[in-house]
Amino acid sequence: MTSEHQTSGHTEEDRAASAAAGFSSAAAVTPENTGERFNPITAKHLDDIPQLEKLSGDDRFAMKVVSSVLPFRSNRYVMDSLIDWDNVPADPVYQITFPQRGMLEEGDFDRVADLMKRDAPAKEINAAIGEIRDKLNPHPAGQRELNIPQTEQGTVEGLQHKYRETVLFFPSQGQTCHAYCSFCFRWAQFVGDKTYKIAANEASGLHDYLASHPDVSDLLITGGDPMVMKTRVMERYLHPLVDDPRFEHIRNIRIGTKALTFWPRRFVSDPDADDLLRLLEKVTSSGKSVAIMAHFNHWREFGTDIAHEAIRRLRDTGAVIRSQAPALAHVNDSPDIWARMWREQVALGIIPYYLFVERDTGAKNYFEVPLDKVWTIYNHAVRSVSGLARTVRGPSMSATPGKVEVLGVQEVHGEKVFVLRFLQGRNPEWVGRPFFAAFNPNATWLNHLEPAFGEEKFFFEDELAEMTGGASIPEFSVAAE
Ligand SMILES: *Cc1c(COP(=O)(O)O)cnc(C)c1O
Ligand code: SF4
Repeated sequence: MTSEHQTSGHTEEDRAASAAAGFSSAAAVTPENTGERFNPITAKHLDDIPQLEKLSGDDRFAMKVVSSVLPFRSNRYVMDSLIDWDNVPADPVYQITFPQRGMLEEGDFDRVADLMKRDAPAKEINAAIGEIRDKLNPHPAGQRELNIPQTEQGTVEGLQHKYRETVLFFPSQGQTCHAYCSFCFRWAQFVGDKTYKIAANEASGLHDYLASHPDVSDLLITGGDPMVMKTRVMERYLHPLVDDPRFEHIRNIRIGTKALTFWPRRFVSDPDADDLLRLLEKVTSSGKSVAIMAHFNHWREFGTDIAHEAIRRLRDTGAVIRSQAPALAHVNDSPDIWARMWREQVALGIIPYYLFVERDTGAKNYFEVPLDKVWTIYNHAVRSVSGLARTVRGPSMSATPGKVEVLGVQEVHGEKVFVLRFLQGRNPEWVGRPFFAAFNPNATWLNHLEPAFGEEKFFFEDELAEMTGGASIPEFSVAAE
């Protein structure tokens, strides 16, 4: 904890940072301070953001408290082009990027607030922050223990392999984002504690692993946001896959990103934007598919001219854009928002793919929506769009045993139940098989559910325990993605 998290006092460094973020009025007009080049805005700029001046001092202080625990990062595009400041705090993009008091439990908030108010020593504040972060389930779904591949050479850094067909790759240069989502389950990777990080240093580990796993058809490059990487770094990972026969079996390259929301210039006017598009074109013309897995929570995220241009340019490379996002309180917990979002996506050539249930980490209490309600949102939204938008599946929970979809709520012989099924399973044979849980209106995650009809266990439980090496997983809440 440095002074950047405290309320007062601007150092030279702060002033330089503010200028770099584009807030210095005295500086000459350059791409940097018109916001045309990417510069992050962080917690230390909270006093310089002109749009925040209309908030009360208390509200700004609350932001500083929350952003000392949960990561905060924004940029000029998000602030100037996406957020409607006349609609703050309700604006959805404001909600997903700016820290809100309710994101911390009251006791935790007060603890940090008190320490900051009395200018407590950095060591003491850091210790409090560390304890609070540890309580927020920094590693949901056992992602550190369960899914890291083991080979004869040991563990393969930066990879996760949970479902047979798809390998996840976390390039070390992509472990940040153009802005941070306040609900993100990857928050632990951004707060600077090395023990929280999952990262790769090498392309060769990835390539060797893929070459020796002929069952794998999909590579999913994820992060953070891999689109923060320079094109020449992306090339190091992708180029070898294009024409080396060792990678014949890799048919689909997916790239998970929120850059279409947070920084569409990545695909339009960044210095290496054209190179990136040429690289993607090279992959698609080699006969492999490129899927941009775009994260959109709300239709307001892709309504700008520059976002439309980015979408057009990406599609021109032969890449397909698919969209996915969690349902979140304060942001998109209404069927109308989803229906409008899917309709507009289809019109832009984007294919709706997944609606997720918010996972059990970070500011979950603030954003969580009960399963029953998420299902109702999905159901009402899907009914009101044409078949072209009904490609979206969900609501889906990414839990330890797999991706579990809430198919619906039904009454079977007088018992109200959730009908569930696996969309992905640690064992591929679980996929598609319906199963039942007792209805529970307050449940927000799989671990809150009990088997229906008085049964003792869900059908997969014994096998799951075996697969996870008997590791005691008190709930099924722990997995990647
Ligand atoms: C969601 C997910 C995938 C991809 O699953 P699809 O259903 O093929 O999109 C792969 N690996 C992990 C760990 C995931 O959570
Ligand atoms: S990893 Fe994705 S969800 Fe998380 S902060 Fe980055 S852009 Fe947002």
